[in-house]
Amino acid sequence: MELLTEIAPTKLAIKAKQVFHNLSPAELIEAALQNGEGVLTDTGALMCDTGKFTGRSPKDKFLVCDDKTENTVWWGDVNFKFSPEKFDALLYKMLVFLEDKRIYVRQAFAGANPDYRLSLEIINTQAWHNLFCNNMFIRPSQDDLVNFSTDFTIICVPEFEADPAVDGTRQANFTIVDMSRRILLIGGTGYAGEMKKGIFTVLNYLLPQENGVLSMHCSANIGEQGDTAIFFGLSGTGKTTLSADPNRGLIGDDEHGWSETSVFNFEGGCYAKVIDLSREKEPEIFDAIRYGSIVENTRFIEGTRTVDYHNNSVTENTRTAYPIHYIPNAVEPSVGGIPKNIFFLTYDAFGVLPPISKLTVGQAMYHFISGYTSKVAGTEMGIKEPQATFSACFGAAFLPLHPTKYAALLGEKIHQNKVNVWLINTGMTGGSYGVGNRMKLSNTRAMITAALNGDLNKVAYTKHPIFGMMIPEHCPYVVSDILNPRNTWADKEAYDATATKLADMFKYNFEKYADFADEEILAGSPVIN
Ligand code: ATP
Ligand code: MN
Repeated sequence: MELLTEIAPTKLAIKAKQVFHNLSPAELIEAALQNGEGVLTDTGALMCDTGKFTGRSPKDKFLVCDDKTENTVWWGDVNFKFSPEKFDALLYKMLVFLEDKRIYVRQAFAGANPDYRLSLEIINTQAWHNLFCNNMFIRPSQDDLVNFSTDFTIICVPEFEADPAVDGTRQANFTIVDMSRRILLIGGTGYAGEMKKGIFTVLNYLLPQENGVLSMHCSANIGEQGDTAIFFGLSGTGKTTLSADPNRGLIGDDEHGWSETSVFNFEGGCYAKVIDLSREKEPEIFDAIRYGSIVENTRFIEGTRTVDYHNNSVTENTRTAYPIHYIPNAVEPSVGGIPKNIFFLTYDAFGVLPPISKLTVGQAMYHFISGYTSKVAGTEMGIKEPQATFSACFGAAFLPLHPTKYAALLGEKIHQNKVNVWLINTGMTGGSYGVGNRMKLSNTRAMITAALNGDLNKVAYTKHPIFGMMIPEHCPYVVSDILNPRNTWADKEAYDATATKLADMFKYNFEKYADFADEEILAGSPVIN
């Protein structure tokens, strides 16, 4: 039997009952409504449910292990192995499954820099998924479509469920990347984010190895002077929210590449959280939710078609997907120069880290490799206490290569270019979760503005006694009392104890990277007295 592996993706003969090519948003919205996939909101957005899965399923994400990937991929808890034979069988089964279905096919790009872009062909069974891909990937022009040659194919079939015993998956849903056959296969889940983060994984594999481009889980924007800023951070730390800044051009909200000369977006749209969204706090995002946009897993205010953004009855992870130009000051194309400022965003539920601080190069590398944020986990008694999460490069879940590959590239780039690196705590102030409050968005915005416009070059700094970062003593438009976290805690001894506890967690987590770290990086580690 000829292995499907040998067949170039463009030659994948996909048969279906009905095939719709590159439908416009209007046609896709009509189709979605006719198919009963969603309803319209009062601002004209399409509201859909993603089904059983309201988030990605990291444990069901596999990479095909073959000659190409066996010795390059960072196998383990993030990248699970899948055999080429099983992939072949599953792909075949899915192609048969599609034969009596209606499919929506579209061409798109990933990568706003033409030198590094990936040409995608996307096969969906749900019209709204195809609209999601229209919004989230880069939309080709009519000219681009003339000689379009596919580099990578996405096949996303939520209705298709795998049989783990036969198909080699963990359960009925799966996301499998085959780098040789250049196919992203998704089944059993309707969470649209699997498609965008699947392609992110592909770019994270290809760009650093083939082009020396650093791929990054970060947002990016650009100032009037042409200065680029990037914001790394794990989910919920504020990448999307803080990159939408009325005074700066938006490059992108989630995935970027850093080449010799530029920072470029991988995507053509944004995927913003909408839980508790308000026009007052986040006007750009609020107003982007209109005709052509999608809202996921939200509910209406009873008796209306107005979305109730406070409703978390389906999930906390309610989302909207809109094309990037729905943000008024998005730059076109989504490209900027080499960053002048890098922000690491963390949601520190312990309330220990300063709301803004400046890092040395060693500290920057240490924090990049650590990738700290935290969650608040409920316990049996209903008490909620913080749980530290360390995810290397602020996005380990999407990294097919060892984290030190990306860290080494970042290190080179920081050394080559004069870049300021800042750590921003968008989490707790005044105490840990349960005692303190979340840092006000208006304060975080003011601190970032002050860092960007140089105001923080003119103030005095204090060194954090344990973590070593420099904390500004003043910041325009921010009350000075909140800048040093210890000052915001009523119980200073509790602060010191909690800071020591967090520093211990950093040290314990870092042990596995100790071999990689040189003296400069080790000097960036916290010091417990
Ligand atoms: P993902 O990777 O999942 O897309 P993200 O990093 O883009 O996550 P956001 O979508 O920006 O995260 O989510 C940050 C959330 O936190 C938003 O709902 C925002 O309104 C809220 N928030 C509250 N206070 C702050 C603050 N001080 N800074 C940033 N965001 C804040
Ligand atoms: Mn985001």
